[in-house]
Amino acid sequence: MSFESLGLSKALLKAIQEKGYTTPSPIQEKAIPHILEGKDVLASAQTGTGKTAGFTLPILQFLSETKHPKYRPLRALVLTPTRELAAQVYDNVREYSKYVNIKSAVVFGGVKPASQIATLKKGVDILVATPGRLLDLHDRKAVSFKRIDVLILDEADRMLDMGFARDLNKLISFMPAKRQNLLFSATFSKEIKKLAEGILRNPVEVET
Ligand code: AMP
Repeated sequence: MSFESLGLSKALLKAIQEKGYTTPSPIQEKAIPHILEGKDVLASAQTGTGKTAGFTLPILQFLSETKHPKYRPLRALVLTPTRELAAQVYDNVREYSKYVNIKSAVVFGGVKPASQIATLKKGVDILVATPGRLLDLHDRKAVSFKRIDVLILDEADRMLDMGFARDLNKLISFMPAKRQNLLFSATFSKEIKKLAEGILRNPVEVET
């Protein structure tokens, strides 16, 4: 199996090649085709499996194929439990989007919101965020979720462990009902299954 055969664009393949990846990891091989088809995906994946590229690459492809020439509303949102993970995912997004005209940003708590508000005002296609700060920015009207096409929950089990269930549900209540949802989690407790049932529609289940 090659990255080419997964249906990824030339621009993304170039970035992948520069990263030095030769073959897709199992999670990438299993998840990318479904994500490109626009399906909801429920994936069990630990850190280190290549899950970040597994969701970032197809989302970047979707965003660059369906871009409006003038407007840049927020269309893809990646939620992560911690600022460290948010920063890490954002680094990946930056690297993979090197050859596509897609703007990305990251927002998390613990720093002053002013520069985050300024960045959001300029318009971003894909945002990586921790739930608490994102809710705060939404309350301040610094960001709108009205045009979100894809929602990604990364390390969803850790988000629940950290008490983000209420924030997640509140954030989701501001999003369009018609959207693609991807949920990645290392473990599948009763709580995660309940969260997934409330968010995902007929998900394809992917295991590594
Ligand atoms: P992740 O599980 O997303 O945190 O990724 C773990 C590590 O694997 C990161 O350092 C990635 O850069 C790397 N990685 C992701 N996909 C591949 C691949 N197909 N081949 C080799 N390394 C990869």
